[in-house]
Amino acid sequence: MLKTVFVTTLLAFTASFALAQRPDFSEDVRAFLRVEASVVALTNVTVIDGTGAASKAGQTIVIEGDRIAAVGAVGSVDIPDGAEALDFSGHTVIPGIVGLHDHTYLTGRYEPSTPRLYLASGVTTIRTTGSAEPLKDINARHAIAEGREPGPAMCVTGPYLSGPGNPGMKELSGPDEAQRVTAYWAEEGVDWFKVYMHISHDALEAVIKEAHKHGIKVTGHLCSVSFREAVALGIDNVEHGLLANTDYVPDKKRDDCPMGFEAGYVDLDLQSEAVQATFDALIENDVPMTSTLAVLEAFVPGRPVPEQRALDLLPESFREQVRAMRTQLLESSYAILDSLFAKAMAYEYAFVQAGGLLAAGVDPSGFGGVLPGFGDQRNYELLLETGFSPAQVVQIMTANGAKVLGIDDAVGTLTPGKQADLVVINGDLEAQPETIRNVAVVFRQGVGYDPARLLKSVKQMLRGQ
Ligand SMILES: [Zn+2]
Repeated sequence: MLKTVFVTTLLAFTASFALAQRPDFSEDVRAFLRVEASVVALTNVTVIDGTGAASKAGQTIVIEGDRIAAVGAVGSVDIPDGAEALDFSGHTVIPGIVGLHDHTYLTGRYEPSTPRLYLASGVTTIRTTGSAEPLKDINARHAIAEGREPGPAMCVTGPYLSGPGNPGMKELSGPDEAQRVTAYWAEEGVDWFKVYMHISHDALEAVIKEAHKHGIKVTGHLCSVSFREAVALGIDNVEHGLLANTDYVPDKKRDDCPMGFEAGYVDLDLQSEAVQATFDALIENDVPMTSTLAVLEAFVPGRPVPEQRALDLLPESFREQVRAMRTQLLESSYAILDSLFAKAMAYEYAFVQAGGLLAAGVDPSGFGGVLPGFGDQRNYELLLETGFSPAQVVQIMTANGAKVLGIDDAVGTLTPGKQADLVVINGDLEAQPETIRNVAVVFRQGVGYDPARLLKSVKQMLRGQ
């Protein structure tokens, strides 16, 4: 029998949002804990470990403190004396989900229950990727890191940085203002920046330059600057994939965001030189792409949006609004044809085939039809539909997100020595994708949260009961 090796070395975290130390939890947070023994063994589980390796049945995972101590076949891993042994036969364990486009919104506004909703859904790290109220996100990040609130580790982006044409955001007039605003929010402690559709080349270049000076990375929901152009300016990540990339707009003018351009992409040839040139630029410069299929689906007729469980969580008055908004959307010019949605999926698949790094997030920014956490889970099914294997999808949703954030030494795979962030799912995830919704326990930093209790509190917060 192999001797279990306990790894006690604390891994160095470079990112401030991913604290190495588990805090002392407040009474409020302790009320959501289901497993808090210092040594825990999860036995008889199927493991999909996030590395892209095939699933393994009949495994034991040992957690010691906030770390994964051992993962291996039942019988080959010693269960330490005094460990709380939990037999999870029939369950699948994956790493905690790292959601890269995970706003603290229900619609376009900050909503304090959303961190709980993410955690309950198995999302243990989020990057907010656009913030309507960055100070509230920063405060929430502190409250979670200090153990006063339950939630995922939060990588907070600054306010949306855009250009004229986005009156709800910071409309940067040019490079001087871009530099000043970026420097200000870097000092305020944001972890990343997100730029938005109407930002100009010059402003984007200034944002990137200033952010990098502070050791901070930049992503974007682009339009007036195309993917290839943004890569040339030094951007670190691009959001949404094909439907936000103006590389293939005929006669596109510099700094112009041609509304509705994506409709022209239905017949785009993914083998074309133009598409390959985008992929080459991204891959050669190590720029990953963030897939947000869950939010795109909300614009596609005939798709199961909103999910009934999402409606059940919302206040009654809001439910009607969500249904009405969905109907209205599908009749508007924002609707996405099924064939275009399929093209967007194929684009992401081709990017990965070419060697690109794809991560994922939910983007719960629209009309309330796609919820934080729930949409991350839905991404699992949509990425399968895209053509990826279950092991690849888990990797995209966990390890790849960690890589983008530069925290893959610490989280993202079920590897001894890493932080014990993992999701225990009731069911055979590989055989039945929908079981991604049946979260039994979510471990973050080695303690197990009860998703049912978290969801109940979300419902109370949303409905004021
Ligand atoms: Zn967004």
